[in-house]
Amino acid sequence: MCVLLGIAVVTISFRTACFALVLAVGLGVLGLIQLHFASQVRCPLCLVPPLATRNCSRNRRAGRLFGSYRLRVSCAVIGTGRFRCPYCGEVTRVEPHIR
Ligand SMILES: [Zn+2]
Repeated sequence: MCVLLGIAVVTISFRTACFALVLAVGLGVLGLIQLHFASQVRCPLCLVPPLATRNCSRNRRAGRLFGSYRLRVSCAVIGTGRFRCPYCGEVTRVEPHIR
C-alpha cells in the first residue's frame, strides 16, 4: 500500500494523491459502517443476517441481482418493503423494531 501510494505521489500530483487517500479512507470507513449495520439486521425466522456474508448454504430459491444476494435483499427492502431471506427462503415484511 505504501509503495503504491509512493508511486502515486511521484507520478501524479500531490492533490490527486491526497484525494485518492481520502477516498480510500472514506470507503474503508463506509465498509466498516456497512459491516456493523448489516450484522445487526436479522431474519426473524432463521436469525441469520441476510445483508452480511455467511458461510451458510443458501436456499435454492434465493435469487441474485447482478450476482449479489445482498443487493437483491437491499433493493427488495427499498422497493417493496419486504424481502425473501436468501438462507431460509421465507418472505418477510420489514418493520422497524424500536427498543
Ligand atoms: Zn431467514
